[in-house]
Amino acid sequence: MPVPGVTRDPLRRAYEVVIVGAGLQGLALAYELAKRGLRDVAVLDRGYPGVGASGRNGELIRSAFGTPEWVGFFGASLARWRELSAELDFNVLFTPAGYLVLASTDEELERCRGYAARHRELGVATRLVTAAEALELAPALAPERVRGGVYQADGGFAHHDAALSGYARAAARLGAELHPFTEVTAIRTSTGRIEGVETTRGTISAPVVVDAAGGGARAVAALAGVEIPTRTFRLEAIVTESLAPFLRPGLALLNVLGYCHQTTRGELVGGTDQRRMDEADCLRCTLRNLRDTAQKLVAMMPRLAGVRVVRHWAGTVDVATDFAPVLGPVDELEGLVLDCGWLYGFAGAPASGLLLADSIVTGRIPPLAAPFSLARLREGRPIRESSLVVDTEAAG
Ligand SMILES: Cc1cc2nc3c(=O)[nH]c(=O)nc-3n(C[C@H](O)[C@H](O)[C@H](O)COP(=O)(O)OP(=O)(O)OC[C@H]3O[C@@H](n4cnc5c(N)ncnc54)[C@H](O)[C@@H]3O)c2cc1C
Repeated sequence: MPVPGVTRDPLRRAYEVVIVGAGLQGLALAYELAKRGLRDVAVLDRGYPGVGASGRNGELIRSAFGTPEWVGFFGASLARWRELSAELDFNVLFTPAGYLVLASTDEELERCRGYAARHRELGVATRLVTAAEALELAPALAPERVRGGVYQADGGFAHHDAALSGYARAAARLGAELHPFTEVTAIRTSTGRIEGVETTRGTISAPVVVDAAGGGARAVAALAGVEIPTRTFRLEAIVTESLAPFLRPGLALLNVLGYCHQTTRGELVGGTDQRRMDEADCLRCTLRNLRDTAQKLVAMMPRLAGVRVVRHWAGTVDVATDFAPVLGPVDELEGLVLDCGWLYGFAGAPASGLLLADSIVTGRIPPLAAPFSLARLREGRPIRESSLVVDTEAAG
């Protein structure tokens, strides 16, 4: 079956914008550029659309973070998720079933109390919930592992394949070209400007090249001689057989550094991060991680004991030292645009597509995207977001 939206025509020799990477970031941006009237947009991928982390993630979406920068950006993205199915004319299965950050200890509950207070200051609608309320929201949890939590009622999840298909089809309808199996092997520059790219299918000229290469983003930037201070980490997730509905909201489990949700098809999708994230650029799944995730999810939700795991995969993410995305132009090289450093790049894609498209078309960086510049990292101004459910020392 052909992959939705892919182009059958030959690769042209010139485009206005070349996007490297057909993950959700690259596809959302292609759609937004085409929607703004750009007719010469090409998305190139060394594999097929969604082969990267965009087709391998936990699908969770929230905007309840602890810094104005994250809240502003992910709030805009959440708003966009709500309208996406109608706009793309494709059901991306966005399900605002709630997002519960669960505390299993008194110390974690204190953290949640702090998160909820911060959310109030930042105008994000969450509420601190008691153990009884958390169990009402997610009755499958083991009561002895529940102390309470913080709940965002309008968070939730979508389906990653549906979101990829929706954006790919809509971008193609508007004239963007999506070329799979086209690896970018070099970036051509001259006197501080981008001239184009070399690919396994020939040379293309383009004044604007966007690095949306996910786990490969640092390597792609290096092709242009630009160093971005990110590191590549490997994450794993599992999918169970389909189960009768038992879990409504998405869960972030502070105690086990885990997350999960039950899809509309009944599968539980989830994962746990190791105490130290695995710095690696490969897609190998490990028995260690499978066992870790299974044991922790069963401990949190005993009814999962004996349930079969039907899929298990790994994906890579490129994360900056402060775990925030790296977006926008690069001072020393005109025409290079970064759309990388994505840890929560599934949730964030609708906003980044829109904001980066605006910035490419107008030449002005929208205020919501401006804080995420490469310059912040170079100049030692990291964004200190404290409510990520990962081991934030891992990339320190
Ligand atoms: C297990 C796991 C769970 C996750 N859970 C969540 C979650 O719940 N919520 C959330 O928001 N995020 C989550 N993420 C992160 C999220 O998936 C990523 O941040 C997001 O998918 C990044 O999208 P992207 O388009 O930037 O990158 P990708 O989807 O990785 O796409 C990059 C593309 O670039 C291509 N590429 C690379 N180099 C080249 C080259 N030289 N030439 C051409 N093409 C190239 C690759 O083939 C790939 O298709 C998770 C990730 C993983 C792995």
